[in-house]
Amino acid sequence: MFILIKMSSWQDIYGHEQIKADLQLLLQEKKLPHALLFSGIDGIGKLLMAKMLAKSLLCPNFKENNTACGYCISCKMFDEQNHPDYYFLEPEGKTRKLIKIEQIRQMQSQIALSPYLSDRRVVIINDAQYLNDTAGNSLLKTLEEPVGEVFFILITSNKDMILSTILSRCMKIYFAPLNYQEVAKVLQQKMDITQDKAMIIARLSGGSILKAMQFIDDDALALRQKALSCLQEDFSIKQIWSFIDELSNLDREKINEIMSHLQMLLRDLLLIKVNKDIDIIYNQDIKEDLLNLQGKYNEVDLLAKLTLVEDILKRLNSNADIKLILQKFILDWQNK
Ligand SMILES: [Zn+2]
Repeated sequence: MFILIKMSSWQDIYGHEQIKADLQLLLQEKKLPHALLFSGIDGIGKLLMAKMLAKSLLCPNFKENNTACGYCISCKMFDEQNHPDYYFLEPEGKTRKLIKIEQIRQMQSQIALSPYLSDRRVVIINDAQYLNDTAGNSLLKTLEEPVGEVFFILITSNKDMILSTILSRCMKIYFAPLNYQEVAKVLQQKMDITQDKAMIIARLSGGSILKAMQFIDDDALALRQKALSCLQEDFSIKQIWSFIDELSNLDREKINEIMSHLQMLLRDLLLIKVNKDIDIIYNQDIKEDLLNLQGKYNEVDLLAKLTLVEDILKRLNSNADIKLILQKFILDWQNK
């Protein structure tokens, strides 16, 4: 899902105040490094920040305003996504995402030309963890010996997948997940939901606006209810099979989501058992249901079930048959 958030100033980016201030200062003092790496979970504004930075780097009026002016030809072309000195690159391929060497070569031939409007170029590489080794090594050469004034902003949700040689060339900026009040505020501004629901979804989102919006689309609360029923019910054999049938009819992403809810519910139950502190649990709105389940499981049961859920989450990412994965899971679940 693509979230369109109109962006004309730094203030339009939610949260990350320190990063905003640091980047603006580096811009002002002309000390911005030529290669940056923004890392952090998906859906928290890394790409928005990169675009705001790119727009500011390209705007000829930046010096007076300390930000992109928003009205010059450069800013207008940037907003229309056809600025000649800006290059955006991201993985291609639906089933297997990959940034290929050809994409890097194409970018390299573009940036070898002199800039048209500005006196510099900006390249954003989104989801940079999908650079394969050849593409990564080719990019490395450009980072080591850039032609002219070029700024690279790499964005990733998984820094560990990026070549260490590339990492060592970049100034690394970590974006923390947003706090749930910030997420709730965005949800209320962008979507037609009540404050209560915004708070519940925000708490479940793990600090990602993207995830929160997906939750609203997918009716996350209904999926969470399915996860909760795994903890509440003692299934008979007949119920097990109908439950497996019901789940197998959902797509993999939804099953994944149910299992992620189950994982959070188990963690909450463990937290309640260990800490006796119910203020720190994720699923605040159903704390009564969780408190009722306290007596049903001991810590060993909960840890064993948590391992099962972590295991199925891994298996769901493989190509194995969904029905077989679910059968094994439910049977193991009953035995633990
Ligand atoms: Zn401008």
